[in-house]
Amino acid sequence: MSIQIAFDNSYSRLPPRFHARLDPTPVAAPRLVRVNTALAARLGLDAAMLSGPDGVRMLAGNLVPDGASPLAAAYAGHQFGNFVPQLGDGRAILLGEVVAPDGQRRDIQLKGAGPTPWSRGGDGRAAVGPVLREYLVSEAMAALGVPTTRALAAVTSGQAVMRETALPGAVLTRVAASHIRVGTFQYFAAREDTDAIRMLADHAIARHDPDAAHAENPYRAFLAGVVRRQAALVAHWLLIGFIHGVMNTDNCSVAGETIDYGPCAFMDAYDPATVYSSIDRQGRYAYGNQPRIAMWNLARLAETLLPLLHDGEEASVEVAKEVLAGFSPVFEEAYFGGLRRKIGLATAREGDIDFVNDLLKCMAENAADFTLTFRRLSDAAADPGADAQVLALFREAGAVAPWMARWRLRLAEEGRAPEAVRAAMRAVNPLFIPRNHLVEEALNAAILHDDFGPFETLMDVLAHPFDDRPGFERHTLPPAPEERVTQTFCGT
Ligand code: AMP
Ligand code: MG
Repeated sequence: MSIQIAFDNSYSRLPPRFHARLDPTPVAAPRLVRVNTALAARLGLDAAMLSGPDGVRMLAGNLVPDGASPLAAAYAGHQFGNFVPQLGDGRAILLGEVVAPDGQRRDIQLKGAGPTPWSRGGDGRAAVGPVLREYLVSEAMAALGVPTTRALAAVTSGQAVMRETALPGAVLTRVAASHIRVGTFQYFAAREDTDAIRMLADHAIARHDPDAAHAENPYRAFLAGVVRRQAALVAHWLLIGFIHGVMNTDNCSVAGETIDYGPCAFMDAYDPATVYSSIDRQGRYAYGNQPRIAMWNLARLAETLLPLLHDGEEASVEVAKEVLAGFSPVFEEAYFGGLRRKIGLATAREGDIDFVNDLLKCMAENAADFTLTFRRLSDAAADPGADAQVLALFREAGAVAPWMARWRLRLAEEGRAPEAVRAAMRAVNPLFIPRNHLVEEALNAAILHDDFGPFETLMDVLAHPFDDRPGFERHTLPPAPEERVTQTFCGT
């Protein structure tokens, strides 16, 4: 059986300075961990073909399918605020693009597929831990409704990768609306290559903002589109307690998808200063800093587009400022609107921001679990008998009781049927998130014992994050003190 995929590789048709063409480096003994059957179907790919011998060879980089045009992309980026003019795909190879039955064009990329001209001394490989982590968390994000790159498959390579110790190697197949990053624009800006910036912007417009092509100023409309998508994305992150962990400009997608699941984590106890990433020593990418950092990244994108925004630097800067000013309204609408829905309010009123902030403040002071507070409030909306379950999440007994009394009054004034409020709240307040201790447990079983059972179980509950699952209570709970994970690692 050969591999039939209808590739249409628009990125590879860009000029040679955008990429390096090269095939993945084959691995010793590919073994399938998992194929994402539902995603394969959405892409118009045959999951059975992908899980077959040739499919697995392709997913490992051992067989390049007809029509693929493998390449590593050039990009730059600000890492923790410092500009690096040359990063690029150092361990990822784009096989090509497919236009799915839904009409959406998507990249199919192998991560961990071997060295490229941008590997900078790295081995171009990925260890099985980070591959499974990205699989779990990106698919959990998709199930939570957050724009994200997806995981189509994971295979182990049968080869060790050397990190602090030797670890089993693996390859992740990542699917994305595109892999165009703020850092891709920065790469060409650093080289004062305005032609390339224009080509890249036109390419991105065709893929992500086709309407912008007809705008009076297409590049302004494109920038506005990226700003809107990032503002909405970061609001969504905050609403589910997600911390990206490494919001460098090379990890900021102009398509508005969450990309690059390195040291990311979901917060257990609510605290806006939460940082898990071992390399984020200053807390630059702390939970509560994320909107500010997204805005900073967008300003870096705007700088690269200045030559296209208007004639003359000053006028261009004015245009950029106007467009960037669009971030806050979109963010605030998405964030506060989302918080209002999380507490079951159907109407907006003056004072709502203070009201919901009072709850968040109480949660922070009492180390209340972010996810469970909102989930249990959902049940309390219809049943005061469930109040005790909410109160139990707060360190000081009764700390949240006065707020809940105000909340009940407000719900009563809105007059919606309690069952309807509960249902609406449960639809936005997940029960299952990829909690760090559960992710670690699943990864350790795979790494240390070649046991993928806990990974599969976790994938299974995370696929339906808003549904009760009797028998899986343990997967809903925050870690016990001895289970707590305080640091996450890039794992490159
Ligand atoms: P990341 O931390 O995944 O955003 O990667 C930052 C940069 O380091 C990118 O240019 C990656 O391609 C590169 N990189 C990360 N891990 C490796 C590796 N094992 N081998 C080569 N390059 C890598
Ligand atoms: Mg990256």
